[in-house]
Amino acid sequence: MKVLSFSAVEILPALLDKSKTQTIRPAWKDKHPQWDKEPSKCIKEIREGFETKPRFQPKEQVTLMWKQRTSPKGSQFCSICGNRSALHSPDTEETGCCQGRLFPKILGIVEIESVFQIEMGKNHIIMPEGDTEINLAKRDSGGLWTPQDMFNWFDRKYHLGEPTIIGKIRRKIFKTQYGPKRFWVYRFKREGKR
Ligand SMILES: [Zn+2]
Repeated sequence: MKVLSFSAVEILPALLDKSKTQTIRPAWKDKHPQWDKEPSKCIKEIREGFETKPRFQPKEQVTLMWKQRTSPKGSQFCSICGNRSALHSPDTEETGCCQGRLFPKILGIVEIESVFQIEMGKNHIIMPEGDTEINLAKRDSGGLWTPQDMFNWFDRKYHLGEPTIIGKIRRKIFKTQYGPKRFWVYRFKREGKR
C-alpha cells in the first residue's frame, strides 16, 4: 500500500482527530532533466518545468503516516510538537519537548475519493468550478485555517510568489516563472466512514 506522509505540525491536530480529509501536494518536481538528451530538449524541459502525474487515484487505499522517512518504524510522537518522544526513543537528541499525548507513526488507512489539480498563488487559487477556497482550507486543516491561513502556509513552504531554480545549463540558471504554482489535491475518507 502506498503511503501519504505528513510532517507539518500546523495540521497535526486535524490529523489526530481525523477531521483532515484532504492533502495538497506539489504537481512539479525539483529535478534536473536528463542531460543526455539534445540540449534544445533539455532547455525546453527546464523552461516548462517538470509536471508530475498524480501519485494516487480515486478508490485507492493509502496509509497515512507521520514523518515516514525521517523516523524509524514504530516511533511514537508528541501530539503537541510532533517530535519523536524521548520517552520511547532514548537515543533521540531532541530536547525541550512538551510531552503531549503519544501517538503512533501509522495514523490509519484512508480511501482516496477524488483527485484534481489547482493553481495557487499568494492570494488566489484557480480550482475546479463548484468548489470554494473556504472548503479547500477547511478540508486541509480540519477547520483550523481560513483561506488566508492556507495561502500563507503554502507561500512559506513553496514560495508562491518567487521563482524556483530548476536547472543549470552552462552556468546559466533557469528558474520557473514568478507567480502561482500547481498542486495536486487529494481528498480522502476514513474506511467505513463518509
Ligand atoms: Zn512535544
